[in-house]
Parts: sequence; structure tokens; C-alpha cells
Amino acid sequence: MNTSRHKGLSFARRMYVPRTVGLSIGFFTVAAAMYPSHPPAWVWIAMILNGYGWSHLAYLLAKLSKNPYAAERRNLIYDSILGGFWAGAMGLNPLPTVTVLSMMAMNNIAAGGPRFFLVGCGAQITGALVGGFIFLPELFPAVTQVQVYASLPMLVIYPMAIGLVCYRVALQLSRSKKALEKLSTTDSLTGLMNHGAWKDLLTVEFNNCQTLNRQNSVALIDIDHFKNINDTYGHIIGDNVLKQLSSVLSAGLRESDLAGRYGGDEFCVILPDTTLAQATDVLERLRRTVHEHTHSVLPDLKVSLSIGIAPYGPHLTDASMWLHEADMALYDAKSTGRNRVTSARPGVRVCERLTPEFE
Ligand code: GH3
Ligand code: MG
Repeated sequence: MNTSRHKGLSFARRMYVPRTVGLSIGFFTVAAAMYPSHPPAWVWIAMILNGYGWSHLAYLLAKLSKNPYAAERRNLIYDSILGGFWAGAMGLNPLPTVTVLSMMAMNNIAAGGPRFFLVGCGAQITGALVGGFIFLPELFPAVTQVQVYASLPMLVIYPMAIGLVCYRVALQLSRSKKALEKLSTTDSLTGLMNHGAWKDLLTVEFNNCQTLNRQNSVALIDIDHFKNINDTYGHIIGDNVLKQLSSVLSAGLRESDLAGRYGGDEFCVILPDTTLAQATDVLERLRRTVHEHTHSVLPDLKVSLSIGIAPYGPHLTDASMWLHEADMALYDAKSTGRNRVTSARPGVRVCERLTPEFE
């Protein structure tokens, strides 16, 4: 089902319950106002059809329409015309008229905003003119006690029904917002944090180290010769290797460790409250697990990792410098043979360690 049809149908479904409730109780408001003029049988039949049949027909019309959203908006205009019609027919009897028309106006503004409210007002006036013209009633008759009581259920129950619909929409909106937020911070292939989300956390953890004197470490992990894996086994197997590595990361790290996909075949981890020695142990274990793993279908497929670790140190001026040290450690791991864990050497200036290949 295409999304605009789906949205239109859910709009029609949302309106169905309040319309059914509103018209069922609105019948008594209108009937009490019409009764004193002793209307003929066809008017009672029309009131009953409007009160108890129209909401089901409206829903059916929207469901059968190619464009349910437009059909449902038309239904709301018909609601307003019919409401206006009964208001005109009862001679604009103040209490029932205000009750019926204000409830419909609330519905229109909730469904389509101020513009649609104005369109609805136009429809109500048109309906009122037609109703007035057909019945030629006494204008603004005195409100009876029965009419007051017959209007009360509408005034109490209908706003509750609309409130419930608005609450459900707000709840749905908040769920969608959360899902969207998660989507915008998650790497779609591996389910780990994406580059942007991880770097935001790196800044937070850097500040924690500075202000709370915490001992955190950062690691960058890169798959060795990943291009060869793609070239030899294809990109789908390559993707599977990336997914498997993310599973190994999730399983092998603590819950407090913050793993992400930095990009391509590179992963990143922040290890809070972890010294360089502890981080080296953890990542060495991880490297060995990956290297010793044998693929069930492709036993020849061997994956190895190069890992660079940088512990926090007071010489670091910002999170980028910290990350750069981890990057340099990773470069050391690559240039000294791959498949190893290497730690940063904070004393060495970054520019001294760059080779033309990396410049
Ligand atoms: P090195 O040992 O120096 O890291 O060699 P490498 O081949 O891993 O080096 P490089 O970083 O140049 O290659 C990374 C490759 O990862 C290149 C790119 O085609 C591939 N890649 C990046 N993103 C994806 C992905 O989402 N899926 C797959 N299958 N491959 C990807
Ligand atoms: Mg690589």
C-alpha cells in the first residue's frame, strides 16, 4: 500500500470514533431542539440517519476512495454542512446550535488547522441557510430545560473523545520522533552508533576526563586488507564480515563501553574508566577472537584486525587530538605488520610520525 493512501486511511480511522460518538449523542441535542416544531416523519428519519448511519458511510467512502485523505476532508465538510443544516432548521436555537457547531469547529481545527476551520465555517453557514430556507423556523427560540440537558452529554463527552484522539496522535508522534532520533545516530549496516553520534560522545567523555579526572581510553579498529575480502568473496560477504565484527564488539565489550562504526571498515570504541593496560588486554582478546574465528561456509576466509589505542592524558587539548593519537597508533599497527594492537606514544609529535603515504 502506498504511504499517502496509508496515511489517508489512518486519518479516516482516527476520525471514525469521535464522529460516531459525536453524532450518536448529538442526535439527542438536535432532536430536543427540533421536537417543539413537531417535524414530519422524514425529518426524524433524516436525523436518525445522520446520527447513526452517516459516520459508517463516511468511513466507507474514505476506505473505498483512491485518495482517502481527500475523501475524509470532504466528509468533514459534509459534517459541517449537515451540522449547519440542523442549526438552521432549529432556528439557530442558541444552546444546541452553539453546542453542535462549536464541536464541529473544534473537530475541523484539530484535523486541518485554521484554514480548514474557515472552510468548515463556510460549510456550516451554507448548511444553516439551506436548513433555514427549508423549515422557515422561528429564529432564536427560547431554550427549554430539556434542550439544556440534551446538550450536556455532547458538551462533556465529545471533547473527551477529541482529547483522546489528540493524545494518541501525540503519543504516536513522540514514538516516531524517538525512532527517528535512533535512526539518525545508528549505522544502518551494523546497528552500532554512527560516526557523528560516536564523535559527540567522544567529546563528552573527553570533558569527563578533564573535569572528573577519569581514566578513559579510545581505540580505533581497522580490518586488514578488507578490500581483498570484498574483491575475493564479494561485497555481501564483506558486509557480513562488518556485521560479525560489530557483534563481536558488542559481545566482547562491557555495557559501558561505547562502540561505533567510524566509517568503511573502521570501528571505534571509547572505554570509560579503563587504563591503557586494561584496554590493551580487552582489545588483544578481541583481536585474537576475530583472527581465530573460522567461517562456517568459507573456511578460507580469515579476518584480522589492526588496533590503535590512546589513553587519555593531560597533554591532550581536545577530543580531536585524542582521536588523532589513536589514529597514529593504528597507523603504527598497520605499518609494523598488521594483525596487532598498538598503543599511542604521547611524547612523539604527530607530524614526526607521518610518512608520505599518510600525508
Ligand atoms: P588495510 O589493511 O590497509 O586497511 O587495507 P584495506 O583494504 O582494508 O584498506 P581500505 O581502507 O583502503 O579499504 C577499505 C575498503 O572497505 C574499501 C571499501 O570498498 C570497503 N568498504 C567500505 N564500506 C563498505 C561497506 O559498507 N561494505 C563493504 N562490503 N565494503 C565496504
Ligand atoms: Mg582496512
